Amino acid sequence: MDNKYTLNLLFDNHGRQLNYLRLAVTDRCNLRCFYCMPEEGLNFSKKSQILSYEEMERLIGILAKLGISKVRITGGEPFVRKDLVPFMKTVSEIHGIERLSITTNGTGPLSQIEDLKAMGIHAVNLSLDCLDRERFNQITRRDEFEQVMTYYRALLEASINTKINAVVMQEHNLVDIIPMCELTQQDNVSVRFIEEMPFNGGSKGYTPIEWNHNKILDHIQQAFPDLTKLTDEKNSTSFNYQIPRAKGSIGIIPSYTRTICGTCDRIRLTPKGELKTCLYQNGSFSFRDFMRDGATDQEIENKFKALFNKRAKDGFEAERQKPSESSSFESMATIGG
Ligand code: SAM
Ligand code: SF4
Repeated sequence: MDNKYTLNLLFDNHGRQLNYLRLAVTDRCNLRCFYCMPEEGLNFSKKSQILSYEEMERLIGILAKLGISKVRITGGEPFVRKDLVPFMKTVSEIHGIERLSITTNGTGPLSQIEDLKAMGIHAVNLSLDCLDRERFNQITRRDEFEQVMTYYRALLEASINTKINAVVMQEHNLVDIIPMCELTQQDNVSVRFIEEMPFNGGSKGYTPIEWNHNKILDHIQQAFPDLTKLTDEKNSTSFNYQIPRAKGSIGIIPSYTRTICGTCDRIRLTPKGELKTCLYQNGSFSFRDFMRDGATDQEIENKFKALFNKRAKDGFEAERQKPSESSSFESMATIGG
């Protein structure tokens, strides 16, 4: 028998090992990015409805024993949840967790950066869709551009591995694509362009995107004909490139066209503790209720294994399995990005 199956690791029914947890610690946020949620916000969860830090630590501990070694903290905006830093520090000390990362909108105080550095954060993904204050206001519906740019500079100054996430939106930020690529020439940053997905919480309708990864790449190659392809890391969700002599790199994430599902190693837990075996799946099972009903660690482990044993092959299959009217009413803030 193949050695990997003799260890107590978590595999899905397609032979893919799961080793990366994306944990959304809240659905709340201080911004209102229109591709993510409506201006009036969402029907945010009450404190009692979301997992406590103790419940999250318990689940991470169980998953770490099943070979999960990477954790990303996301949301909503993770830093709007009280006491996030001590929680992350505890997670960073869980046996088996080798890489702890966070995705943030960068509107918090700069003191967070020292805290992240001190706990040995692996990477910070900063959401920034444009390089202009007015467009930033239109996209996020908040006036925080200067603050986010200051946060960005402070991350680089602290030598933290920094990635910028930019959602490509036909209506708003096509003019920013090339300037954001140019940013990689001076800064040691990975700028990643993300295809817009249909998870905007009803903020707007969704028509299948025209600006897919091929079109984004064509556009960049026209400006930088000598763009070189980098070798992508195993399980990478982005196709990566570099402008010759640049300090940083450029990534393109086919999150809507879904050409990357074949190597997906991700487990997603929503703030309410629902498991998503795929970004495009409806929350399937409540680990919150299971734990609050008294499940033992062994029962929780068995449940993860059973649920991943019936995982959709890819995002298209997962989408076909969910109720037809549901997709654009989900928000990325409740899914966890
Ligand atoms: N609030 C944090 C932030 O914005 O960085 C973390 C949560 S946010 C939901 C995680 C990531 O999802 C962000 O990079 C955001 O740009 C991305 N995102 C949100 N809605 C999206 C959508 N409809 N399509 C593609 N990406 C989206
Ligand atoms: Fe908030 Fe992040 Fe969603 Fe923007 S993308 S509204 S920052 S959760």
